[in-house]
Amino acid sequence: MRLSRNFTRTSKQTPADEVARNAQLLIRAGYVYKTMAGVYSYTPLGLRVLENIKQIVREEMNALGSQELIMSTLQNREIWQETGRWSDELVDVWFKSKLQDGTEVGFGWTHEEPIVELLRSYLKSYKDLPISVYQFQNKLRNELRAKSGIMRGREFIMKDMYSVHASKEDLDNYYEQVIEAYKRCYDRFGIGEDTYVTFASGGAFTKFSHEFQTICEAGEDYIYLHRGRNIAVNEEVLDEAVAELGVDKSELEKVKTAEVGNIFNFGTQKSEEMNLVFTGEDGQQHHAYMGSYGIGITRVMGVIVEKFADDKGLVWPENIAPAKVYLVQIGNKSGASADDLYQKLQKAGIETLYDDRNERPGMKFADAELMGIPYRVTVSDRLLDDEKWEIVSRSNGEQCLLTTSQLLAKLNNHVNRVGERR
Ligand code: ATP
Ligand code: MG
Repeated sequence: MRLSRNFTRTSKQTPADEVARNAQLLIRAGYVYKTMAGVYSYTPLGLRVLENIKQIVREEMNALGSQELIMSTLQNREIWQETGRWSDELVDVWFKSKLQDGTEVGFGWTHEEPIVELLRSYLKSYKDLPISVYQFQNKLRNELRAKSGIMRGREFIMKDMYSVHASKEDLDNYYEQVIEAYKRCYDRFGIGEDTYVTFASGGAFTKFSHEFQTICEAGEDYIYLHRGRNIAVNEEVLDEAVAELGVDKSELEKVKTAEVGNIFNFGTQKSEEMNLVFTGEDGQQHHAYMGSYGIGITRVMGVIVEKFADDKGLVWPENIAPAKVYLVQIGNKSGASADDLYQKLQKAGIETLYDDRNERPGMKFADAELMGIPYRVTVSDRLLDDEKWEIVSRSNGEQCLLTTSQLLAKLNNHVNRVGERR
């Protein structure tokens, strides 16, 4: 993309009404636009980052045999009454409204009940099972506090997946596969090392649910870590989990984290509440086994900002950066060389932001840093005779001079084209 065509502007000013560093930087760099507290729009640049995160998740969920769908935001009151969760006391984040005829509707904060309703109208026999479906969907939650920028939105993107099985063994087995797939997702986002599978509350059938918690100062949670045994426990279930796992509380380290995912093994609880049944091999009706698996897509983006940003601005890991290269041209003789390099980069499939604006070099360099693009490549008059260009890494500052072909080879090596991973 040519930056002269980009309609957003970078800003040196920190937005006055924003306390979260992730939102401050994303707004300053032109990735998000704040609509109101806890509500953000994503510009073309911001959308590229979201799409990269989603694509990694999509590949991993597809590899689990799950199928993508998209469900409605407006939801029926009746289906939530089946499980008692229409109640404002039980769920305190509902946004609700009424149709013109007075019919009450809710705005989806999760899709557990709606997916059961959808699937029960199709599910007949054990031969239909297992079923796994997922979506990327805007969830609406009337959150009390929204001070964490895009890490806690009143409107946010979640990947939610639901699986239905004929037996407990099949669900348990799938649940373990999901844990492994989630680990691959967080690895590919660049936060795998700091992300822990964490014992948490909310298990219906099993004692615990599992959260994926990433060490992050800006997070709103605490977990208790046993680094030696690689065990992590959420504050809410600390006593219970410690007893269960046979660990000594004094050996646990308390760390600040952000919840980036949460998975639940419902067993037959939901299908009993909502009558999700199938005919088994024995000809009898059975309640289906069900799991529910979420990843906070926009929260992940916020966590990545918080973890990697420095005093100059954003620092995107290569896998999710909106572009690999920020191309800067300096001087009045090297324009054609820069255009030529831009074309070659595009041809090689290396996403490039070409700063072809009529601005001072200092401003272009500052924007390259603020926007967090992994490699800045500078084509300048000074290096024209050698036909070498300067490449600087955003994450570690390493720089060197390379010819066009050396540059393409280096960047191609680094291009981790998401689709080619598996
Ligand atoms: P929290 O405890 O942070 O409020 P939750 O446990 O209510 O989150 P879940 O219902 O488990 O959230 O949703 C699945 C995932 O969606 C979470 O693990 C989190 O990553 C993400 N998420 C939840 N609420 C928000 C929000 N308000 N803004 C952004 N992401 C969110
Ligand atoms: Mg949760």
